[in-house]
Amino acid sequence: MKGTCVIVGASHAAAQLGPSLRESGWEGRIIMIGDEPHLPYHRPPLSKEFLAGRKQLADIRIRPEAAYRKAGIEFLLGRRVTAIDRERKRVRIEGEDDLPYDVLALTIGSRARRVDLPGTGLPGVHYLRNISDVDAIRPGIRSGAEAVIVGGGYIGLETAAVLRAAGMRVTVVEMMDRVMQRVTAPDVSAFYTRVHREEGVDIRCNIGVAGFEGHGRVEAVRCSDGTCLPADLVIIGVGIVPNTELARAAGLKVENGIVVDDFARTSDAGIVAAGDCTWHQSAVYDRWLRLESVQNAVDQARAAAGTLCGKPARYDALPWFWSDQYDLKLQIAGLSQGYDEAVTRGDRDHGRSFAAIYLKAGRVIAVDAVNRPPEFMIGKKLITGGHIVDRVRLADAAVAMRDLLTAAK
Ligand SMILES: Cc1cc2nc3c(=O)[nH]c(=O)nc-3n(C[C@H](O)[C@H](O)[C@H](O)COP(=O)(O)OP(=O)(O)OC[C@H]3O[C@@H](n4cnc5c(N)ncnc54)[C@H](O)[C@@H]3O)c2cc1C
Repeated sequence: MKGTCVIVGASHAAAQLGPSLRESGWEGRIIMIGDEPHLPYHRPPLSKEFLAGRKQLADIRIRPEAAYRKAGIEFLLGRRVTAIDRERKRVRIEGEDDLPYDVLALTIGSRARRVDLPGTGLPGVHYLRNISDVDAIRPGIRSGAEAVIVGGGYIGLETAAVLRAAGMRVTVVEMMDRVMQRVTAPDVSAFYTRVHREEGVDIRCNIGVAGFEGHGRVEAVRCSDGTCLPADLVIIGVGIVPNTELARAAGLKVENGIVVDDFARTSDAGIVAAGDCTWHQSAVYDRWLRLESVQNAVDQARAAAGTLCGKPARYDALPWFWSDQYDLKLQIAGLSQGYDEAVTRGDRDHGRSFAAIYLKAGRVIAVDAVNRPPEFMIGKKLITGGHIVDRVRLADAAVAMRDLLTAAK
């Protein structure tokens, strides 16, 4: 615990791992290397308050600079690690000398999935992952101008809400037959589609994009059904790809992410990994997962710090997530994939409060709660307790969630 810990990546997982290492007794150097020029910042606001201009860089820092200084954490920012030499225990940094390590942590996250279509390089066509992306998008936000969002997932819909509130005319183009298809039940998709339409967003499902057109900058999005949508600004939000190349080239085991065990150890005992870049077996769901959430980055980073300090603690947290769109606060507990029944509470077709509770063989496995904190809070307890609930009472929004918990088996 007196050697040098090098952390590659400087975002959510790293910002937890560094300080947690100190708290767990790491006495040696801690050096964080990040290829963005910023101290770790909260990424979720990039499609919410930061995009809307309601928050600035200083407001979204995960920790103030002084906190890292106090913890003796050193930064190499704007630097990219290009290789790991596991034999000699060194990382190669682009354009600089190699840096030796005693233990290594990979918190290299993920990147926006690129599409290979004509015109993606036109000015005005953007992805949304980093502060630099938002800096490029912001000048294109103009009241009355046309925005086309490619992809009706969380990021696409959050962005649509912000652009609409800024007075843009917004169209969302989604390839699947409903928005958020990958992660929610049809009722939740219907709820969100209705609210977005009420807000004036044009949501078009079952349509692919064939390319982007324009002279000098984007002017239109050509869809697979032949329609052409006018576009002054395009944002593509079609998922992410984990950054695994560095680990793979170093010979670490990689599947749909860097393979780690319950203690965040990679296939090399001296290297841990945490966050979006990892592939781990969930204790709660008993299957391999790659999670894309702040909760996972933070909790897994804590486990990684414990491992490096010889105080291993199993990472077995329940996944949770959130999404903000207009005045809707969606809180998601657990993972709904594989559910056999979705029970809803609230009115899907009116108002702004709604929940879907996902059951598998009678047990609650996940909850999507929109402006309904009790469903989220109690839902978490029902999931972790593996409870069976009375589904008729569960579907009755007049029955309090806490009463369902008390009565649950
Ligand atoms: C717009 C947006 C909105 C989101 N909203 C939510 C939300 O509401 N709720 C939620 O829970 N999650 C949300 N997420 C997801 C969440 O931000 C991620 O799960 C989280 O950032 C993962 O943290 P991480 O530290 O694992 O990786 P990342 O945040 O991806 O950070 C990895 C860092 O490592 C750097 N890096 C990669 N390779 C190298 C290298 N070779 N050398 C040096 N540096 C390198 C990357 O540039 C990056 O800065 C959102 C994400 C985005 C993009």
